[in-house]
Amino acid sequence: MSRSETPAIVQTTCPYCGVGCGVLAEPKPDGSVGISGDPAHPANRGRLCSKGSALGETVSLDGRLLHPEIHGRCAGWDEALDLVAEKFSAAITQHGPDSVAFYVSGQLLTEDYYVANKLMKGFLGSANIDTNSRLCMASSVAGHKRAFGSDTVPGCYEDLELAELVILVGSNAAWCHPVLYQRIARAKESNPKMKLVLIDPRRTASAEIADLHLAIAPGTDVWLWNGLLVYLFQNGMLDYAFLDNHTQGYGAALAAARASASTIPATAQACGLQDEDVAHFFHLFTRTEKTVTMYSQGVNQSSSGTDKVNAIINCHLATGRIGRPGTGPFSVTGQPNAMGGREVGALANQLAAHMDLESATDRERVQRFWNSPAIAARPGLKAVDLFRAVEAGQIKALWIMATNPAVSLPDAGQVRRALSKCEFVAVSDCVRATDTTRYAHVLLPALAWGEKDGTVTNSERRISRQRTFLARPGEAKPDWWIVSQVACRLGFGTAFNYRSAADVFREHAALSGFENNDSRDFNIGGLSGVSDNEYAVLAPVQWPFPAGVVNGKPRFFGDGKFFTPSGKAQFVALKPRAPGHAVDDEFPFVLNTGRVRDHWHTMTRTGKSLRLSQHTPEPYGELHPQDAEKLGVREGDLIRVESRWGEAIVRARVNRDQLPGSVFVPLHWNDQFASHGLADAVVNPALDPVSGQPEFKHTPVRVSLYRPAWHGFALSRAALDTRAVVFHVRANGSSFHRYELADDDTPDDWPVWARAWLAAPESDEWLDYFDAAAGRYRAAWLKNNRLEACFFAGPAPVAAEREWLAGLFAHEVLSPVDRMSLLAGRPPRGQMETGRTVCACFGVGEKTLVEAIRTRKLATVAEIGACLKAGTNCGSCMPELKALLAQHDVRKIA
Ligand code: SF4
Repeated sequence: MSRSETPAIVQTTCPYCGVGCGVLAEPKPDGSVGISGDPAHPANRGRLCSKGSALGETVSLDGRLLHPEIHGRCAGWDEALDLVAEKFSAAITQHGPDSVAFYVSGQLLTEDYYVANKLMKGFLGSANIDTNSRLCMASSVAGHKRAFGSDTVPGCYEDLELAELVILVGSNAAWCHPVLYQRIARAKESNPKMKLVLIDPRRTASAEIADLHLAIAPGTDVWLWNGLLVYLFQNGMLDYAFLDNHTQGYGAALAAARASASTIPATAQACGLQDEDVAHFFHLFTRTEKTVTMYSQGVNQSSSGTDKVNAIINCHLATGRIGRPGTGPFSVTGQPNAMGGREVGALANQLAAHMDLESATDRERVQRFWNSPAIAARPGLKAVDLFRAVEAGQIKALWIMATNPAVSLPDAGQVRRALSKCEFVAVSDCVRATDTTRYAHVLLPALAWGEKDGTVTNSERRISRQRTFLARPGEAKPDWWIVSQVACRLGFGTAFNYRSAADVFREHAALSGFENNDSRDFNIGGLSGVSDNEYAVLAPVQWPFPAGVVNGKPRFFGDGKFFTPSGKAQFVALKPRAPGHAVDDEFPFVLNTGRVRDHWHTMTRTGKSLRLSQHTPEPYGELHPQDAEKLGVREGDLIRVESRWGEAIVRARVNRDQLPGSVFVPLHWNDQFASHGLADAVVNPALDPVSGQPEFKHTPVRVSLYRPAWHGFALSRAALDTRAVVFHVRANGSSFHRYELADDDTPDDWPVWARAWLAAPESDEWLDYFDAAAGRYRAAWLKNNRLEACFFAGPAPVAAEREWLAGLFAHEVLSPVDRMSLLAGRPPRGQMETGRTVCACFGVGEKTLVEAIRTRKLATVAEIGACLKAGTNCGSCMPELKALLAQHDVRKIA
């Protein structure tokens, strides 16, 4: 297939979050791709969020890695693969199997994951393979295994609609799992009895539909859930029949809970909450049989993440609220295929097909199935420890697949030191320049979304196909093929002789059913015999799907049987622990990191989309007004956020959604987009002792105002060399690049400096204005009356109307009025300012919305949609529209 050939509409799956929405992709003759939600997919029923809707804008070949490289020079596949095999072989021969490691990713397809895990654990004989899903949901895996004896998500998405109480814990689902959040919001609209409680230190967009928001002190969740367990006991709300027949350990769990929080006031004090709010929550939980607790990174990314998971599960077990429609604890994953990684055992402490690395029986079974020469005998190094071992020189050869650990791991400076010291680093990726690829000795070009073919599993255990609808570019290859080729060179050709992703899938499915006999939760043995054609058209299917069934099962544990040796669920007695590192006088703030609405991970894909970049064009630090005042920080200033591990400089946002004493910084920005925006350079490497998951939500930091000599802003059709400016943030536009700037030295001569930096020829028109008294300089470069670049600088953050200026780049010729207003940085009289983009789908800005709400007296999201179309496509902006309505409701004001 060439890129100009146009297959029909292809059913595939979104590559972003763990909701796993079905996507219809329609390649067009001009190379573009039409994207819409798949109405037939059970996860999203035709809906997509802003990120999913913009997928068509991210499939260009700009920035792609298209050929193998060795030390920066193009190489053939044979040469590159030979070198990887030689380096791994030499390390194993000289230093043993534990001297090599793979670091893989929830972006891999299950088939890729399976082959990588098989090679490492069954053929190289080490368990040194870990996945970036360690950063996302390892605590849920560990909590599930402690409680259920298996890593089982008990329920399904439908339970969130059937519930009458949904508790969102540490989850900004409105931004991070938007389609699932919208399903909950619609269910709530149609069921007036349904309540939603948000438990999160921040008042996030998810609070817009919450009946109660508990702004819990960071890291205190175990106190809260222990308090609830005691309250349930004290109020006679325990399901004793379920406890007696299907659980163990209740007494010890209750005793531990009583020791930590035996009353509502004690719980409230421990959690920094009001007594009446805690009482309200406990009362809601107590009286609502149909309760689902949905949790995410705010629970998992903690040095007590596993305990938090078990604290939640304890309360569901105590009330028997599990395994029945509308009930259960529900972990939602961040990544599109975190669940697939768990299925194949790509965590360093797992074996394939949900078997146990520490069970001799399981190890023998897997080795026999693979007919492999070895099997890892003990758990390998988990992500953070793995990179510590790399820095210590224990790992001699490292292969990173489809991930960017130099950005995404905590204490990112340590990871960079480790990579720079490692004797051999291979990176398989579809992107040429990332913060990680710069450390690679060998680069291996992998296929990207739309080109690759395989399966992913979403948060409700539903396996869906990602299908090819674009031709393979350059020499890029599927990840499973790349790994198999190295395996062949290491002498394991017979076991890695796969012809297709379907071949790998059949083997993965067969292993899941191998000697299973219902002893293991993960069983898709019923799919082990699918033909190539059946695999090609495989519809989304939930597991378990053992041989002999027609449909998968939506829920586990409705029969009260668990996968522990006794068959009973296990309560875990929990003594709450403080976060790994406490705040002190030197570092008095708590740094919390997370996602923004329209970007994904390290922005290698979403950074390509103009409309996605407009919602949040630069990294920020959110502060409570009280803290901002004490620090002398105003909205829009630059702030320095420092910890013992590193620092970042970000734009201040000041609002009451943030808990006093804390600062929120998004995790996405890296060296490719920002000079000082790397949040994980600041994050501490404290770990959960059970799961090994890092504590991204609690790092002691200090915050201070950063006072550069000048602040600046530029838009340019050509990319600019940012090395000339100390502080810079880049965002992409459709026909321009956008830069936020600052520096500690003011140029001697602004016109000379600006003209040289923008590379404006002397022959072209140059408009500028210098206010010497105020220290403000503004300039615009025009060619035949077309805007090529504009630049604004001054001693304070630049207040120019960025969206209007960006819009001028769409014109081939500037109108006289636009030209006159250019250096003012504001639209001419009579033209409205649009403000920061709120609705990414239709490019509707905040000022446009506020004006319409006020002048047209709009009172509902539907009225805004009818007037401006905002919110009528993906719906991701609905919480922000509701917040604007609440803030500017003219009827209420009147
Ligand atoms: Fe993709 Fe959005 Fe669906 Fe997540 S909610 S899978 S990002 S479309």
